[in-house]
Amino acid sequence: MQVPPFDLTEQLHQLGEALEDAVLQVLRSGQYIGGATIARFEQQFAQAVGAPHAIGCNSGTDALVLALRGLGIGEGDEVITSSFSFFATAEAISAVGATPVFVDVDEATYLIDLELIEAAITPATRAVMPVHLFGRPVDMERLGALAAAHDLRVIEDCAQATGASWAGRPVGSWGDAGCFSFFPTKNLGGAGDGGAVTCRDPALAARIRELAVHGMPRRYLHTSLGYNSRLDALQAAVLSVKLPHLPEWVERRRHLADTYRRELADLQGLVLPEPGPSGHSWNQFVVRIPRCPAAEAGCGGSCVPSGDSAAYGLPESCCRDWLKQALAEAGVNTIIYYPIPIHRQPAYEELGYGPGSLPITERLTAEVLSLPIFPELSSAQQATVTAVMRQLVAQPLSLAS
Ligand SMILES: *Cc1c(COP(=O)(O)O)cnc(C)c1O
Repeated sequence: MQVPPFDLTEQLHQLGEALEDAVLQVLRSGQYIGGATIARFEQQFAQAVGAPHAIGCNSGTDALVLALRGLGIGEGDEVITSSFSFFATAEAISAVGATPVFVDVDEATYLIDLELIEAAITPATRAVMPVHLFGRPVDMERLGALAAAHDLRVIEDCAQATGASWAGRPVGSWGDAGCFSFFPTKNLGGAGDGGAVTCRDPALAARIRELAVHGMPRRYLHTSLGYNSRLDALQAAVLSVKLPHLPEWVERRRHLADTYRRELADLQGLVLPEPGPSGHSWNQFVVRIPRCPAAEAGCGGSCVPSGDSAAYGLPESCCRDWLKQALAEAGVNTIIYYPIPIHRQPAYEELGYGPGSLPITERLTAEVLSLPIFPELSSAQQATVTAVMRQLVAQPLSLAS
């Protein structure tokens, strides 16, 4: 049995006619940009997030850029964020002319270490951008208090956390702005690129809306230099059909995560993700392989060091890479989110974060592996993953014998 890391066609089968009808309706309407389909989705999405405003845009990356620009962050400003994320988190900060300032993550949660934020604040710091990585919510009460104490704006990167909540309140409703991605593999995925910004302040919502359409408050009057970044009607139609199913899909992800945690709990060579708060939406299930599985089961330390670790000054990842390869040979396809942290990317060389500057982030990139988790993953497929994992990673009994 082959187990894919995700399967984007299953939802089409599940929602079949409703999706096809919605798409055909847009096609036949002739209204492809703007209009009622967009307005309806924005309203539905704002309600789901519990924010008064939602503005659709081109992508999660653009959502971050629009939020930053809308809050007036740009040249000369610093934004504190995490380097253990998808590149777009920092790229958006740089795109508006500001500078990303990276702090290390917490080893247990993989999220920005709240203890380290204060020391990174300078007179140029304008905002904090927490990333709800893998669907796990950042403690927004603590982060919000910290930001308020230093008069910093909070821009939540919710790209991986649609459907997640902290203390019963959805992510994206806590900060000054929440930025979402509808990239197909996210918890709510379109049939292409898409994103949204949520916020409370009506003036900020209006600025973001203008920026997304060429800084144009009314037709052919341009009051700022903006972007062409709209959510198109076809995507909005697809997303409107899918959104009501998000809660059940997130529940399924939680169930799959619980099952993995139970079935893999006794494997000594493996660090499982902490269950986290109840609002975790499990966009990814990320395990760590800190050392090679014992000789009788795993590679016994005979794995081949990777070129990446030397090239980018990162800890050796051969044990993780070995397991990924062995899983693939058994039909279980996994992904590494992310093999090179943002601060060690060639594009950010000029920021000067050398090897060892963010030790936990760097170690995680060498050890993490994401097991298949998506709502349509069948119980039989998941059983295959756990069975293969149990074969490949030494168990306590075999260690004792
Ligand atoms: C996917 C992602 C983005 C960017 O979203 P796109 O829609 O692909 O532009 C930003 N931040 C994080 C953490 C992401 O996972």
